[in-house]
Amino acid sequence: MKTILRTDITVKDICEGFVYNELEGKGLFGLAGKLTIQPEYQRNYIYADGKRDVAVIESILKGYPLGLIYFNTVGTDSFEVLDGQQRITSIGRYVTNKFAVKDERGMEQYFTGIADDKQQKILNTPLLIYQCEGTESEIKEWFRTINIAGVPLNNQELLNAVYSGPFVTLGKEEFSNTQNANIQKWSAYITGSANRQEFLERALEWVSKGNIGDYMSRHRYDTNIAELKTYFNTVIDWVAGVFKDVESEMKGLEWGRLYETYHKIAYDPNEVSAQVHKLCTDFYVKNRKGIFEYILGGSQDTKLLDVRIFDEATKKSVYTIQTDEAKSKGISNCPLCAIGNDSNKDKIWSLADMDADHITAWSKGGATDIKNCQMLCKTHNRAKGNR
Ligand SMILES: [Zn+2]
Repeated sequence: MKTILRTDITVKDICEGFVYNELEGKGLFGLAGKLTIQPEYQRNYIYADGKRDVAVIESILKGYPLGLIYFNTVGTDSFEVLDGQQRITSIGRYVTNKFAVKDERGMEQYFTGIADDKQQKILNTPLLIYQCEGTESEIKEWFRTINIAGVPLNNQELLNAVYSGPFVTLGKEEFSNTQNANIQKWSAYITGSANRQEFLERALEWVSKGNIGDYMSRHRYDTNIAELKTYFNTVIDWVAGVFKDVESEMKGLEWGRLYETYHKIAYDPNEVSAQVHKLCTDFYVKNRKGIFEYILGGSQDTKLLDVRIFDEATKKSVYTIQTDEAKSKGISNCPLCAIGNDSNKDKIWSLADMDADHITAWSKGGATDIKNCQMLCKTHNRAKGNR
């Protein structure tokens, strides 16, 4: 790969013909049309937060270095940004009055509102640019490397870069577009942001059963994303159909896996809704995120709910009562051992050898309180738990 260091390009040059696509949140072109700012393997513009974009402008005004920018040479006098698109887009947006920066008196100022000498200072700032030339695989390999070393791309952003092509472009149009009206609906079930590719990542994870890279590689040159979209919508529709009410605990669950496991079972949404409500307000349920899978699985696996257990004071108190009574009757202090016929029927277990058990199972409405607590020897407790 050949590289040339260029110091002759200024902010003014870069901003000539700068186009910002508000809809897609992308810086598109600069350098009088010769520069593609956001090639498709780049992540979306994420600096528009009133902090990082502002910091770029403040750095220029204070004369701080902006860091290296890398261009890839794609033709005679035509380039694309390999690294630096967030900074370039911030500069372009500022110079075209898309956001304001506070001046020394704390007043918000747009570019055209600041003093002429400051405008000139910004426009005449030279940028430090490495112009690279290499094969696609060289460039991509290198792009991967700098991004691992620098402020990291997340996993999906890296995969988008590695498998760039028509499929990724279409996928991003659908799942990484903050203007997509569906994002709000999806956000009830999925954590993350469209800009950081987290919806695209979930969609890919679900359809590929977790083998995202493999799936992207196989579909890299596809010119449609029908399967991806259909599967994703099927999962979302299934969740929305089974669980009528959107609870905050539903966000970020493994809906793809849950869909695969349970979608062939019929549920009554009204019944499900009542169950969800009951469990969501149950003091004994510690893991509320587990409620949904618990219900889908037929309300069997209480481990999913991490039901509150008896505290030490309760156990000790029940142990003492049970043991005193057992000793006076000459039977085992484990009630199940006591009714058995083996040598344990009069065995007095130590507290350490016993576990607390719900007399009426929690799943059948039994509370985690002293009235519903009995101590069993570890063997019997385990046997009861497995029933
Ligand atoms: Zn026992």
